Amino acid sequence: MATVGSNPLALLNVRDGQAHVEGVALARIAAEVGTPCYVYSRSALIATYRDFAQAVDGMNGTICYAIKANGNLAVVRTFAELGAGADVVSLGEMKRALQAGIAAGRIVFSGVGKTEEEMREALASGILQFNLESSGELEALSRIAAAAGKRATVALRVNPDVDARTHEKISTGKKGDKFGIDFAQVPAIAARAMRLPGIALEGLAVHIGSQLTSTEPYRAAFARLADLTRKLRGEGIPVHSLDLGGGIGIAYAEDKAPTIDVSDYAAVVAETVGNLGCRLVFEPGRSMVGNAGLLLTRVIGVKDGEARRFVIVDAAMNDLARPAMYGAHHAIRPVQAPAPGSVESPVDVVGPICESSDRFAAQRSLPPVVADDLLVLLSCGAYGFVMASTYNMRPLAAEVMVEGDRFATVRPRQSYEALLGQDRLPDWMAAGRPREIRGAA
Ligand SMILES: *Cc1c(COP(=O)(O)O)cnc(C)c1O
Repeated sequence: MATVGSNPLALLNVRDGQAHVEGVALARIAAEVGTPCYVYSRSALIATYRDFAQAVDGMNGTICYAIKANGNLAVVRTFAELGAGADVVSLGEMKRALQAGIAAGRIVFSGVGKTEEEMREALASGILQFNLESSGELEALSRIAAAAGKRATVALRVNPDVDARTHEKISTGKKGDKFGIDFAQVPAIAARAMRLPGIALEGLAVHIGSQLTSTEPYRAAFARLADLTRKLRGEGIPVHSLDLGGGIGIAYAEDKAPTIDVSDYAAVVAETVGNLGCRLVFEPGRSMVGNAGLLLTRVIGVKDGEARRFVIVDAAMNDLARPAMYGAHHAIRPVQAPAPGSVESPVDVVGPICESSDRFAAQRSLPPVVADDLLVLLSCGAYGFVMASTYNMRPLAAEVMVEGDRFATVRPRQSYEALLGQDRLPDWMAAGRPREIRGAA
């Protein structure tokens, strides 16, 4: 299989006019599992992981897959089988990584606000490293570790003040972003870490943002990290490891060339931090899963307004938040190849939710579609299902994994019983019909 990160459409195999993922017809998945439904290709996950692993081979690095991009158990398990560690940003993600079979000793705990409970549990599990983002976190972890009679291995996450040139909501390495420790503050905090009980300072970390489309911001950030490493070492502070974060972008648009080639990324790593003798940690998320997954949806109906034609589908912004949240583009294709000679025309593809932002595409050229047709939104493997909500009281979508000619539901669609059964009435609110309670006529 071709490298999937580079082309959104590479996930689709069209056979006899029917779109398949690997050997499985999407129409068959829709018939058996229903829609909307996320579909992941295990072979694509494996191929993408191997590409990355090959590119950074020989660099004394650990690949810690960023669970937040896609936390499905079968997805995380796939990477665990390939030897991946995990980057987690919450206790829930740590538990998922462990559940999937990733050894605690290969888990990095990141995030701008770890609670004491999270630190205590992660310490007890024996994780590889905490990436700390403030002096407050450092003091808290020291207290917790000392009280538990343990030493926490830590890296300080540096804010290198570089512009990742990505969407403002996913830029994380510029001064004024909430992430990391300001560059100038690092030496003092590192010196403090050396003196604190319960703390073993291992190194530094950066993560400058997500969906980067050029290697230049990496070059700038890693070069600053190398400078800082030399400076700290000059002050007698050892730096054994560098965590380089994630952020490699994927192609979302049909007609765009691949964004960052992983071998170019690896070359930048080698040129900037390769000669420091540090262990490296890589935290790719989106690039591992983004183009290995799609969202399968069915057309509810087509509405012709005076100004626009709307294709209303059964997936919505609660299932896939990226278009509403970031104005993100996802390629859209019909599952059944259009009849020969059919003419594309611009349509808005929208979900049923009561928000105008519930729109997957505006004025997108699509072949004619009618109610009950199936469509796919491509590049939905990352930050898709993990961001889903039940807004408008819509059950969470199903997730399916395909491998070769077989597929399995790796998360069933949420049932209405599960969705509605979560809420409780206070015992001081009487049961019974509201009309009777209010005494209304
Ligand atoms: C989100 C995140 C990642 C993964 O980012 P991608 O853009 O999905 O590769 C890696 N490290 C940290 C600290 C993160 O917060």
